Amino acid sequence: MLNFLIKNALIYNGLGENPFKGSIGIKNNLIESIFKEEEELPNAKVIIDAQELTLTPGFIDTHASTGFGFFFPHAADHKLYQGITTEIFGNCGTSPAPIDKHLVPTMKKLATELDFDFNWRTLEEYFAVLEKMGVQFNVATLTGHSTLRGGALKEWANSSNEEQVQMLQSMKSSMQEGSLGLSTGLIYAPGCFANTQEIIELAKIAKEYGGVYASHIRDERDKLEEAIEETLIIGEKAEINVLVSHLKAAEKRNFGKIENVLKRLNDYNKSHTPQAKIDVYPYTAVSTKLRAFIPKKFLEGGLSKVKERLNSNKVVDEIAQYIIDRDYDLSQMLIISNDYAEWEGKNIQQIADEFNWSLAETICEILKRDTDMWIVYHCIDQADIDKAITWPNAMICTDSWSHPINAPKRIGVPHPRSYGAFTKFLKRYVFDTNMLSFEEAIRKITSMPADYFNLKGRGRIEEGYKADLVLFDKKKIKPMATYASPCKLSKGVEHLWVNGVHLIKSGVINDAKPGRILRNHH
Ligand SMILES: [Zn+2]
Repeated sequence: MLNFLIKNALIYNGLGENPFKGSIGIKNNLIESIFKEEEELPNAKVIIDAQELTLTPGFIDTHASTGFGFFFPHAADHKLYQGITTEIFGNCGTSPAPIDKHLVPTMKKLATELDFDFNWRTLEEYFAVLEKMGVQFNVATLTGHSTLRGGALKEWANSSNEEQVQMLQSMKSSMQEGSLGLSTGLIYAPGCFANTQEIIELAKIAKEYGGVYASHIRDERDKLEEAIEETLIIGEKAEINVLVSHLKAAEKRNFGKIENVLKRLNDYNKSHTPQAKIDVYPYTAVSTKLRAFIPKKFLEGGLSKVKERLNSNKVVDEIAQYIIDRDYDLSQMLIISNDYAEWEGKNIQQIADEFNWSLAETICEILKRDTDMWIVYHCIDQADIDKAITWPNAMICTDSWSHPINAPKRIGVPHPRSYGAFTKFLKRYVFDTNMLSFEEAIRKITSMPADYFNLKGRGRIEEGYKADLVLFDKKKIKPMATYASPCKLSKGVEHLWVNGVHLIKSGVINDAKPGRILRNHH
């Protein structure tokens, strides 16, 4: 007998096709049968009358950052309430594994700060930890280039041949153990010190095992076009599918650049077999660490050295010039850490005025107190975001790790996209503006990422596919998270299944952990 029969639903299959009225039978972890409206229905242990609610495949978040959030209970609730049933992490150059020699002390420190047991080195060992603990939804990972570099290199700015070989070997083992490909974060240390050739060699290994190359590119501002070219060169040389992560053109003077970037990507795709795609989050502010806004050379040599340096007037002057050169609008940059009540919710300009510091002094003072300070910076053009999101090769991401709703302070304050990227995407692009049809919007967050990352048997409603399903009221889909109050669950998801397990039932989530680790199939 069927475990579940979901009857009278409006079904979108995930492929961008027109919906149909019908019913779905779930047996174990699979979509066992699909019935059209007029067909006679079998019996099932549980029958849910959808009463014309909308049924789609569970959504896939292509970009979930580091993958350290799973150690907290109910870490994925905020994503499940957006309809997400699969998360890909290890983006932007940082993955939880493999951890090679030189990265061990950093990981030990992180484990103490975040309070988890750090007892793995390889990806396989990390997966074993997750499997033992259980996860709420499906997870998969990329292999972070900065993680490889940080583990293999003694000095971030220089590497020996042996160190390069070690990175390649670790990349290879990671792919063999199920990684989906390579990710880079080329604005962050130590990834930013790598040349293009180093990345090409690593991407070739990802390609050998059927993986992809996803990049937080070297510049999302004035040199956006050059950074896109570097990504395409890597794609061409390694003959690998490339993904430009969270595509944006930051800072006012770069507004409007996205149209040309998309034109370039379209041209590239016409003449190449491995394709270029993007993912985007539907917000006009970025969320990152404040230290990304000072010259990279001040970040060399470990964080205690960094703090010491920031006391020097010469360094302050240089940072001041750096801010002027890049024309950062610091009145649009907000401190979001609630560890510092005197700064929280204020922008850098306000803090500077209040304490009678220069802008550069303000940045240095904040970084001296906390080199990990998180900020939100409103620096993206809505029209650019709209163009990027509606591009047929664009997928949607939260760009956020799993973040439990009652998270301890030490794991930071999230960007509202963490709790609302997918619901905001549907609400804005389908219902508020009509920029996308509902079927196209659903395709972008189901079959398209499943196909791109080669997640077999997922991302569509078809007999024999995994029963990752979301049943919701289209009219009620709504993000609730804001910049000031980011930890608010989205509305609209009534029922949700992960691998055939009924995880959200009439709007209420239970304690089940039906998620699976999704390994690449080579
Ligand atoms: Zn990134």
